[in-house]
Amino acid sequence: MSDAGTDMGTDSRKIFGMKAKVPVATENHSENTHPSSTSNGLPGDILRNYTKKVGNYLIGRKLGEGSFAKVWEGLHTTTGEKVAVKVIDKRKIRKDSYVSKNMRREGQIQQMIRHPYITQLLDILETENSYYLVMELCPGGNLMNQINAKKRLDEREAQKYVRQLVMAVEQLHKKGVVHRDLKIENLLLDEQDNIKLIDFGLCNCAGILGYSDPFSTQCGSPGYAAPELISRKKYGLKVDVWSIGVTMYIMLTGTLPFTVEPFSLNGLHQRMVDRDMNPLPPSISSAAVNLLNRLFEPDPDMRPNIHQVMTDSWLQLGNPHTGVPYLNRIHIEEINHTVLLHMTEKMGYKRSEVLSAVLTNKACHMLTVYFLLNNKMKRLSKKYREKQYNMEKEKKSELFQTQWRKHIEKITIPPKQTPVYLAVSKGL
Ligand code: ATP
Repeated sequence: MSDAGTDMGTDSRKIFGMKAKVPVATENHSENTHPSSTSNGLPGDILRNYTKKVGNYLIGRKLGEGSFAKVWEGLHTTTGEKVAVKVIDKRKIRKDSYVSKNMRREGQIQQMIRHPYITQLLDILETENSYYLVMELCPGGNLMNQINAKKRLDEREAQKYVRQLVMAVEQLHKKGVVHRDLKIENLLLDEQDNIKLIDFGLCNCAGILGYSDPFSTQCGSPGYAAPELISRKKYGLKVDVWSIGVTMYIMLTGTLPFTVEPFSLNGLHQRMVDRDMNPLPPSISSAAVNLLNRLFEPDPDMRPNIHQVMTDSWLQLGNPHTGVPYLNRIHIEEINHTVLLHMTEKMGYKRSEVLSAVLTNKACHMLTVYFLLNNKMKRLSKKYREKQYNMEKEKKSELFQTQWRKHIEKITIPPKQTPVYLAVSKGL
C-alpha cells in the first residue's frame, strides 16, 4: 500500500479530522447506553441517527436481517467512520444447538481470511445476551437488487462479478475453508462496484479449527446446493464450485438453473444428475455456456476445483491485471506509516501491539482503528488529489483565456474599403 496521504502534509490530526488526542480505547460492552456528547466530539445531527451504544460503536439503522442475526449500520466513535455490526441474539440461537455450538466459528474463520472481495471482519464484542461481529460496511447494497431491477445482467457485467467471486473463493479454498452458502444474496457491493462476500455463518474449515465431522452437515439453500449435498453424501470444497455455477446462471438469466414443480429434493437432485439445466437465452456466448456446463458437473470427482476454474477462458484470469493473486495477510512493507504514527503518537497505542493486530488480522479495536483510518486516508487523499487536479485545470483554462484575449486585442482590423471592382463599376 502506498503512503497515499503524504501529499497532504504530515499532521495526521489534520488528515484524519481529529481535534483532540483520543484516549486509548477501552472495550465498554454496555448495551442500551444512549450515545452522549462523549462520542469523540461527533456533531449532534450525526449522533441523532444512532440510538444505542455498544463498546466503541453507535448503532444506527438496520441494514438487513438473516435467520439468526440482524445487521445494523454502526459508527465507530474513535474514527467517525461507518461500519456494519452483525448482532447475534444468543437467547434466540440457544434453541438451535448446531448454531449455538458454532456461533464463534464465523468470526474465527473470517479472521483467517483477508481479501479485497471478502468483507473484512474488524472487531468482535460479546455481552451476556448478544454476540457482535463488526465488519467493514458495504454501501453498494445487495447484488440481488441489481438483478431484480434489470431482470438479468449483461454478460460482461456478470463476467466481472463471477471473476471476483472465483478469486474470493480461491482464497478461502487455499486456506481449506468451505463457504457452503454462496448465493447472490451473500454478494454485496462496495463503493467501487466490486463484490464483497458476506455471511460465514455456515462455512467450515477442515482440520484447522478442530471442528469434528466438518463435511457431512446438510446446509445452505437447496437452489444453490450441489447434488452431493442434497443427497447427504460426504462432500468437499467443490460444493462451492457448484454454487458459483448457480450464481453465474442467476446473473445471466435472473432465474435458477434447476427447478422442479412441485418442489421436491429428489426431483431437484434428479434434474441435476441428468444435467437437465433450464434453457439459457440464445444471446449467451458459447464460452459462458461451456463454463456453466463445467461447473454443473454432477460428479464432484469430475468437477473442476477452484484452481482449474480460474484457468477457464471466459473468466480471462490469465490477464495480468485481473489475475494477480492477493496475499492473505498485510505484509510489513505495506503498513501505512502515517496511520501507524498517528495511532502510536496521537492515540497512545503501543506500536508492537498495533503491528501484531494488523499483521495477524486479529479482529480487535486496534485493527478497526487501523483499517478505518487507512481507508479514511485513502478516501481523503483521493478527494484532495481530485480537488488539486480541478484547480490546476481551472487555472490553466483561465490563463489560456486571458492570453487569447490579449492576442485578439493585438490584431488590428483594417478600415473597411470599397473594393476596386465596385469603384470601377460606379464610374469613379
Ligand atoms: P442467513 O440467514 O442468510 O444466514 P445471516 O443471519 O447470517 O443470514 P447475513 O447474511 O450475514 O445474516 O446478513 C443479513 C443481511 O444484512 C444481508 O443480506 C445484508 O443485506 C446485510 N449486511 C450484512 N453484512 C453487511 C455489510 N458488511 N454491509 C452492509 N450490509 C450488510
